[in-house]
Amino acid sequence: MPPHRTTRAAAGSARCGTSSPPSPRAGLPDAVARDPQGFVYTGDDVPDPPGGRPPHALETSVPRLLAVGDVRHGSVKRVASAVGEGSVAVQTIHRLLAAA
Ligand SMILES: Cc1cc2nc3c(=O)[nH]c(=O)nc-3n(C[C@H](O)[C@H](O)[C@H](O)COP(=O)(O)OP(=O)(O)OC[C@H]3O[C@@H](n4cnc5c(N)ncnc54)[C@H](O)[C@@H]3O)c2cc1C
Repeated sequence: MPPHRTTRAAAGSARCGTSSPPSPRAGLPDAVARDPQGFVYTGDDVPDPPGGRPPHALETSVPRLLAVGDVRHGSVKRVASAVGEGSVAVQTIHRLLAAA
């Protein structure tokens, strides 16, 4: 097993949000694109993605702001799905930090 290695990278933020139903209490920036019901667009569903690259699968219209679970537009609305997306979000955060 290789020795543990820690890498530090400067990053503004890499956040992850959950919640359903979407509510003003969620405290999301207005710049987060949502569908007419208030669910958050992520990945390929993000309209006119900014940032000069396609968003990651769980990334919102705000670069490096992730959303998982029921709050996402088109989510499956099941516990196992929300948990799985959480684990994918962890990997995505590592990729975002590595690219920072
Ligand atoms: C009645 C009912 C029955 C269901 N039965 C099943 C079932 O049998 N099997 C199944 O797989 N799924 C079922 N589901 C769906 C399942 O509960 C959800 O898919 C799952 O809980 C989604 O997880 P989540 O983390 O996305 O959201 P949630 O579980 O809703 O968690 C979001 C959390 O964020 C908190 N939160 C919200 N806003 C803020 C804020 N601003 N600051 C801090 N915290 C905040 C909320 O209080 C909440 O605790 C059921 C749902 C309902 C409503």
